[in-house]
Amino acid sequence: MVAIGYEEIVQAPKALLHDHLDGGLRPTTIIELAAEVGHELPSTDPDELGRWFVEAANSGSLERYLETFAHTVAVMQTAPALARVARECALDLAADGVVYAEVRFAPEQHLEQDLTLDQVVEAVLAGFAEGSELAAQAGNPIRVGTLLTAMRHAARSQEIAELAVRHRDTGVVGFDIAGAEAGFPPTRHLDAFEYLQRENFHFTIHAGEAFGLPSIWQAIQWCGADRLGHGVRIVDDITLTDDRPQLGRLAAYVRDKRIPLELCPSSNVQTGAAASIAEHPIGLLRDLRFRVTVNTDNRLMSGTSMSREMALLVDAFGYGWKELQWFTINAMKSAFIPFDERLRIIDDVIKPAYAKLLS
Ligand SMILES: [Zn+2]
Repeated sequence: MVAIGYEEIVQAPKALLHDHLDGGLRPTTIIELAAEVGHELPSTDPDELGRWFVEAANSGSLERYLETFAHTVAVMQTAPALARVARECALDLAADGVVYAEVRFAPEQHLEQDLTLDQVVEAVLAGFAEGSELAAQAGNPIRVGTLLTAMRHAARSQEIAELAVRHRDTGVVGFDIAGAEAGFPPTRHLDAFEYLQRENFHFTIHAGEAFGLPSIWQAIQWCGADRLGHGVRIVDDITLTDDRPQLGRLAAYVRDKRIPLELCPSSNVQTGAAASIAEHPIGLLRDLRFRVTVNTDNRLMSGTSMSREMALLVDAFGYGWKELQWFTINAMKSAFIPFDERLRIIDDVIKPAYAKLLS
């Protein structure tokens, strides 16, 4: 097999479904925005600050991990700051060769000054539109869809679900819940999920990251999630007998129904959901042909990018262009934008580029 170079991976079109806006800021931007609002940071040197974020997220301490988001969220409290962060997110993803991205954030976390929920969403959508426009001018076209996240420990999911539906025609393509899984089952937010289903809207649920099968089962069978945010613990329902995998009923259901798994390799290693990239269940799940997608989760906290996640998998599992195309088309098939638009990106952008790489 011909080894794949990192630069080639950057050039190849990629699709990303699970990326947090408040987990992907540029260190320089955090420093500038923090200076504007008088927020104190662990460092005002961009390189040092970037390292601080990765180390804090690596530390295994929940307190330090949460502190990283306290800093990013603190500087995202005005419309110009939100628009800037969104614009730069679109530009950074496009420069990394991402042609389709769904980026999520929790509007309720950006109300510390005087913005309303609608103003928060409008600022972010404007930033994505501007960033996508600039990226296209630079020769890196990208389509960015926005997912609105409700925090699972809070009680605003119905309100956020309605907010998402209100902005469905201007760029919000889905809904999500995130936050600590243990003690906060997705069924707490059943009203919101039922409302979204009645509205023919799409949603994913963070489930099966730290917490295991019950969380995945609830997300799918009680809440009706279209996709699983992480879902990596589905491997707990797969047993290996003499190296032959046996799927339990839930794992079989997830595979039969082609329910997309938004796997985030580096993030899972940081939170302890996987011991290393090489031991990440993505290898087994791909072999078993689950609807596996590759994602970044929090680029700043994991010091990563979509190309880097792909490169890590190439190194650990010996994947070639065939597998990278498979992950990319899986993600594109699982996107929350309309079917014809997904197909257009697959047929006009992804397949021609990989056909060249594979030849
Ligand atoms: Zn996430």
